[in-house]
Amino acid sequence: MELYLKNKTVLVTGSTKGIGKAIAIEFAREGASVIINGRQTEAVSEVVHELKQQFPETNPQAAPFDLSKDTQREQLFVAFPEVDILINNMGIFQPIDYFEITDEVWKTYFTTNVLAGNALAKFYLPKMLANDFGRILFIASEEALMPSGEMAQYSMTKTMNLSLAKSLSRLTKQTNVTVNTILPGSTLTEGVHDMLVTMYQGSGLDEADWEADFMKNHRPLSQIQRLIRPEEIGRFVVFVASPASRSFSGAALRLDGGMIPTIF
Ligand code: NAD
Repeated sequence: MELYLKNKTVLVTGSTKGIGKAIAIEFAREGASVIINGRQTEAVSEVVHELKQQFPETNPQAAPFDLSKDTQREQLFVAFPEVDILINNMGIFQPIDYFEITDEVWKTYFTTNVLAGNALAKFYLPKMLANDFGRILFIASEEALMPSGEMAQYSMTKTMNLSLAKSLSRLTKQTNVTVNTILPGSTLTEGVHDMLVTMYQGSGLDEADWEADFMKNHRPLSQIQRLIRPEEIGRFVVFVASPASRSFSGAALRLDGGMIPTIF
């Protein structure tokens, strides 16, 4: 299928690993020029180099900035004043006992998972509207609609992503700009692997059995009973963000392995 992405510039936040990297790879595969973001210059350069090798016809670029900090966001805006597609993927998560979540932790999650993506949307959306083309996608989570109770400080921010994306989509009426949210279920990324280590190390369970046990006991409503692979999310995001896909607007698109009940 022609996705018309060859002349498009795409900023994928948090794209040195995990879901963000998988999204960046799938955009590059379609010929788009991807801006790779992460906090470490070296990690960002490595992914840019990888993409250049694999997709020499594209122009991957480096954006080594901590986007949870407004001063570093300003540097991003100077370096990249316009993008066609913004994928607000960067986010932090960690299971924490509810009674152990301090106000500082709540603030860190709000700053990183909500305010950063909001600032980027606020900066790039007017330019997209002026160009009469643009896509903004927030990578939320099934936790936005169905909090597991394992990380209240995280789930709250993902519900906020949904609300924010809906509000922004209201500003795009009758234009070729769309704003949507993707709700992945638990996905096997480095971040989730770290989470499994925290949960299972010392439990006596073989590492090979962690995934099945996690799905059975922590995600019993999943129909697929396996962790989603990052490239599955990447392929779907690329389709929704492409010029070929014009009818999603303010939608909460679920790649949750069937966890969320139909009522939503
Ligand atoms: P990950 O921890 O594997 O990767 C996160 C990426 O974000 C890395 O590239 C990291 O360098 C970058 N990053 C973190 N803080 C940053 C900052 N302040 N500035 C710039 N970059 C920063 O995460 P993941 O599992 O790939 O998750 C990506 C997104 O998908 C997150 O928003 C997460 O909430 C969401 N999500 C993940 C899952 C899952 O099961 N993995 C499920 C649903 C939603």
